[in-house]
Amino acid sequence: MKIANIRLGMLRVPLKTAFKTALRSVHAVEDVVVMIDTDDGRVGYGAAPATAVITGDTHGSIIAAIRGPIAPGLIGEDIADLNHLTQRVQAALAKNSSAKAAVEIALYDLWAQRFGAPLYQLLGGGNPLLHTDITISIDSVEKMVADSAAAVARGFAALKIKLGKDIDLDIQRVKAIHAAVAGRARLRLDANQGWTAKQTVFALHTLERAGVVLELIEQPVPASDLAGLQYVTERVNTPVMADESAYAPLDVIEIIQRRAADIINIKLMKSGGISNAIRIADIAQLHGVECMMGCMLEGSIGVAAAAHLAVAKAQVITRIDLDVPSLCLHDPVRCGVDFNDAQISIGNAPGLGVSGIDGLELLPG
Ligand code: MG
Repeated sequence: MKIANIRLGMLRVPLKTAFKTALRSVHAVEDVVVMIDTDDGRVGYGAAPATAVITGDTHGSIIAAIRGPIAPGLIGEDIADLNHLTQRVQAALAKNSSAKAAVEIALYDLWAQRFGAPLYQLLGGGNPLLHTDITISIDSVEKMVADSAAAVARGFAALKIKLGKDIDLDIQRVKAIHAAVAGRARLRLDANQGWTAKQTVFALHTLERAGVVLELIEQPVPASDLAGLQYVTERVNTPVMADESAYAPLDVIEIIQRRAADIINIKLMKSGGISNAIRIADIAQLHGVECMMGCMLEGSIGVAAAAHLAVAKAQVITRIDLDVPSLCLHDPVRCGVDFNDAQISIGNAPGLGVSGIDGLELLPG
């Protein structure tokens, strides 16, 4: 089974309501979709969103990286030679982690189709069932409390609360949400780099003293401030999770060696795809550090790939943040993963199980 052609398309899916963090406000999910055709008529699917303020990748840069350095190195190659192919993708150019991720997702999809099994099974996974948290966008205290109560009523047992704009208001937000849902949902805070290290220690000590029990605090300080992340981790009881500071396996090794965080958030768009995400999970597991499987605001092709990986690495990926399909107005991707609010289950179709995409706009070759 050899790679014959690589095609690209655009897919846009509106969100039910705007997704708001300390960094941005988003109204729709918009992916570059990669289709890799083989000489025996199969298609592997991958996708990547633009997250310019996080990874630096735009739709234009993703398309250019795939057409330019990445695709020519893959045409004519055998899909069974997977490690060789992912090495080619990673070595094709520096950075551009989203473009690399989109192509790797399609390669792993084809590789699993080649062997006739769902991807999670070929990666060594057993139980294809996951439970995700849901994001509570940053907003007024009243709106965030109402959104949290509604999410718990829908069956979500963990909430990812977006913060990071105003520290005093953030403390009020968390206290109010805790008062409304304590004992019914685990609270995960994500400040998206919006606080300083000292502010974070102040906020967490204030919340800890007020009896607010938190499951974790995610990336409170800027991505480049590993010393700040370490400062926080040394001083608070609440577990600290690295997100924007943890892209590639070498970043994770440094974070673990410095004890700068207690948990690592793995996202395919940061790691540059599945091969490096597997390395990160393995490095973390060797050091006794747990991981979360997360995603960007992206459609269900990329989220499905993340779900397969999370199932395969369930021994170390103990937390799931793959809620985007539940935030979308509808899902145009027919794939082998059922996203049913908090519950995610993977079926028996080979690969990622993508059987069709409605409204996909093909880009001229
Ligand atoms: Mg985050």
